[in-house]
Amino acid sequence: MSLNIAIDGPVGAGKSSISDAVAARLGILHLDTGAMYRALGLTALRRGIDVGDEKKITELCEALQFGVKYGQNGQRTLVEGEDVTGLIRTPEVSMAASTVSRYADVRRRMVRLQQELAAQTDMVLDGRDICTTVLPNATAKIYLTASAEERARRRYKEMAEKGMPDTYEQVLEDLKKRDEQDMNRPVEPLRKAEDAVEVDSTGLSFDETVETILRIVEAKAK
Ligand code: C5P
Repeated sequence: MSLNIAIDGPVGAGKSSISDAVAARLGILHLDTGAMYRALGLTALRRGIDVGDEKKITELCEALQFGVKYGQNGQRTLVEGEDVTGLIRTPEVSMAASTVSRYADVRRRMVRLQQELAAQTDMVLDGRDICTTVLPNATAKIYLTASAEERARRRYKEMAEKGMPDTYEQVLEDLKKRDEQDMNRPVEPLRKAEDAVEVDSTGLSFDETVETILRIVEAKAK
C-alpha cells in the first residue's frame, strides 16, 4: 500500500519543517506544495504581471513549466528549469503566492501536478488543501496549528536569523492577513477536513510535534 500523509494548516504552523522531519523519519519524500504557488507568485512579480489580474495569472500558470527535484538538502523548486528555491521565501512572494492561489484554474493545475507527484512515490505533502482536495484518501490527515502569536514568534525568529528586517508586529500582521485571505477565498479555502486530526503545537517542542504526528500516522497505517 502506498503511504501518503497530508498535512494542512495556517501560516507559520511549522508545516514545512515538521513535514521534512516526519518524512525523514519515515524514509519518504516531502512535497512542500506552497513552494509551487510561491514559484508562480515570484514569476509574476519578476515579469511585472499584476497578481490581482486573474486572466493574466491563469495564462502565466498554464504557460510555465513547474518542477521539483530532490537533493541533499531536500526539495528544490524549479520554474522553466531554473532553481528558484532561494528566492521564494520573502514576505512579498508570500503575499503574491496567497493572491495567485485564489484562482480556480491555477489551483486546478497545481492540484493535478501535486497528485501526479504523489502517485509516483510515498510522500508527505503539506499545504492548505491537501486533506480536503489533493489527497482525499491519504493514509493520515493532520491539521497542524498553533496560536497566531506563537506562529508569529517562530516566524519572526526564523526571519531574523536570515537577516530579514521585519518587526514582530509586522510578521504578526502579515500572518493574520494571509490567513484571512487563505481561509476566505471562494475556491478550496483552508479549513480543517472533517477526518483530519488536529495537532496544536502551541505548547509542544519541535520534536514533540514530530512524535505526535508519527504516532497518528502509525495508528492510521495499521
Ligand atoms: O505554505 P506556504 O506558506 O509556503 O504557502 C504559500 C501560499 O500558497 C499560502 O499562503 C496559500 O495561499 C498558498 N497555498 C495554497 N494551497 C496549498 C499550499 C499553499 O493555496 N496547498
